[in-house]
Amino acid sequence: MDITFLGTGTSQGVPVIGCSCAVCRSVDYRDKRLRVSVHLQVQGKSIIIDSGPDFRQQALREQIDHLDALVFTHEHKDHTGGLDDIRAYNFRQQQDMPVHAEPRVLDQLRREYSYIFAEHKYPGVPQVEVHPIISDDSSFWVEGVEFQPIRALHYKLPVLGFRVENFCYVTDANYLSPEALERMRGSEVIVLNALRHEEHISHFTLAEAVAILEDLAPSRAYLTHISHQLGRHREVEAELPSFIRLAYDGLRISL
Ligand SMILES: [Zn+2]
Ligand SMILES: [Zn+2]
Ligand SMILES: [Zn+2]
Repeated sequence: MDITFLGTGTSQGVPVIGCSCAVCRSVDYRDKRLRVSVHLQVQGKSIIIDSGPDFRQQALREQIDHLDALVFTHEHKDHTGGLDDIRAYNFRQQQDMPVHAEPRVLDQLRREYSYIFAEHKYPGVPQVEVHPIISDDSSFWVEGVEFQPIRALHYKLPVLGFRVENFCYVTDANYLSPEALERMRGSEVIVLNALRHEEHISHFTLAEAVAILEDLAPSRAYLTHISHQLGRHREVEAELPSFIRLAYDGLRISL
C-alpha cells in the first residue's frame, strides 16, 4: 500500500491568510499545509479520504489521473469543500464516483451540494454513487478494499477514522474510546491529528496525540491537521520521539 499526504493543515491551512507569524512566513516547504486529505493506493485501487477545498490543487500536484472512490470522515467544510471537482474523474472515467460516508454526513452533502442530488440535474454536474456507512462496529468495503471504521469524537460530533490493512488514519478527534484504541492497536502506521500545544475543544494537542501513540506503539506514526500555532516543522519534529514524525504535504509512505 502506498499513501500520499495530499494535505496536512488545519481548517484554515498554513499559512493563514493575513498572518505574519514565524510559521506562516517560513520558507520550509513542509510549513505549507493544505487542508487534510490522504490518497491511498491499495490493492490496485485509488481511494481518497476527504476532499477539502484544496482537492483540485492536490490532485494536480500528485498527478492523480484515476480515482476509484471517496471516503469521508465527517462533514466539515475543510474535508468536503472539493466535492465539485470530482467532475474531472466523471468525465475521464465515464462513471459515477462512489462516495462513502455516514448517513448524517451524506445528509449534509445533500444540503450543501443540492444540485448534485437534484432530480433534474444541470448537464455536467458531479455524478456520485452514494454508499452509506451504517455501522461503526463492522467493516465496509470500498471497491473491494476492507475499511474498518474507528469511532472518534470531535468535541461532541461523532467522526470516523479508518483502519485499512495495517494503516490507521484518524483526524479531527479529541477522544478515542478504549474500543477504538483496541481497533488501532497492532497497526504498522498510525496517522493522528495534533493541532497545537494548547488545549482545544475538538482536537488533540501535540502532547495528547503523543501519549496515545506511545501507548499504541506502532512502528511509525505521523501527525496531521496541524495549525500554524504548533510551530515550525523542523523545530517541532526535533522534540518528538523518533517513531513519531509530522506529516507534510506531498509525503509518501509505503507499507
Ligand atoms: Zn478538519
Ligand atoms: Zn501564522
Ligand atoms: Zn472537523
